[in-house]
Amino acid sequence: MKIINQLLILTVLSLFVACNQKGAEKKDLKTVEEQSNIQKFKFGTWITSKKGKSDDDYAIEFKKYKEGGIDEVLINTSTDPKELARLVPIAKKAGLDVHAWIMTMNRPGDTIALKHPDWYSVSRDGKSCFDTRPYVGYYQWLCPTRKESRNHVLGLVEELAKVDGISSVHLDYIRFPDIFLPIGLLPKYDLKQDTEMAEYDFCYCDVCVHEFEKIHHKDPRKSENTSIDMEWKNFRLNAVKAIVDDAYKIVHKYNKNLTAAVFPYPEMADHMVRQRWDKWEIDEVYPMIYHGFYNEEIDWIGYATKQGVEDVKDKGIGINTGIYIPPFTSGKELKEAILYAKNNGAKGVTFFDGPELTEEYLKAIKETKESLK
Ligand SMILES: [Zn+2]
Repeated sequence: MKIINQLLILTVLSLFVACNQKGAEKKDLKTVEEQSNIQKFKFGTWITSKKGKSDDDYAIEFKKYKEGGIDEVLINTSTDPKELARLVPIAKKAGLDVHAWIMTMNRPGDTIALKHPDWYSVSRDGKSCFDTRPYVGYYQWLCPTRKESRNHVLGLVEELAKVDGISSVHLDYIRFPDIFLPIGLLPKYDLKQDTEMAEYDFCYCDVCVHEFEKIHHKDPRKSENTSIDMEWKNFRLNAVKAIVDDAYKIVHKYNKNLTAAVFPYPEMADHMVRQRWDKWEIDEVYPMIYHGFYNEEIDWIGYATKQGVEDVKDKGIGINTGIYIPPFTSGKELKEAILYAKNNGAKGVTFFDGPELTEEYLKAIKETKESLK
């Protein structure tokens, strides 16, 4: 099989050279590009800021990451541009890149949004996330279609994009609430989910329904089985895409990139949370390939990485595999996970989260990084 693949590659390459006078030059460029990709394989970690923590303590934390081989931090400041502006120079001084991590459609405790109950997403059984939260208290999702809730979210994105020195605004929770929870989490909630359940199915607010009716001339609230209504699902996938595409334009105005934490690969994201990130206008994605959530083994990290890489390879979207630390039992296992991601086309790996990176894991990260040189 390998030999066949190599022959195929050779044939394709020779055809390419024959068809293009600059073929040889391009091939050389590719080699250089491939080389620099190897050197640039990035290591990152998500962290949540604590306003009471001093600059000096952050300098110590960031130095620890840098010495352990980490290249970038994705910081959740609860969407506070001032807190972000405080942390960026400290992280940069330690040699780390910074991404502004924002909880996008799920906005727990958002003091502005909470003044507008109608901005919140409504379930198929007619309950609003404003006061009825699916699964957990922090699930406070906004409607992705309403002009006011969209503009609120995009305004927050813009404030973060203005902060000097960040590499990207990093969208998290850029989706609908989970219509299906990861299988490994179901026992925790004592739940069985064989079908799309009304209390976890969003958004059936008047604006979403009205906008859908304008295009498709039917009311999803009257559908006998919404789970097989592809137009209704597609409408919601497109509502999320429209926010991402607008956010892309906004952050690029400030010469920043747009990135996002997404579900493991596009079909899975579509099925579980109505998120088709392969169709988005975005620079890089960080699929949360959390094997423990899905009762999968470590090699699944390679499998899932590859699905996404293949789906977006022609679109120039970089994939950074998100790795969830708690299920690992040793540095050796973590090394395996990093290599599965890298060997399946990821341009980096990102760990959830910073406080989980023990001395043993940082040592494993550093050693793996050295071995890639
Ligand atoms: Zn809605």
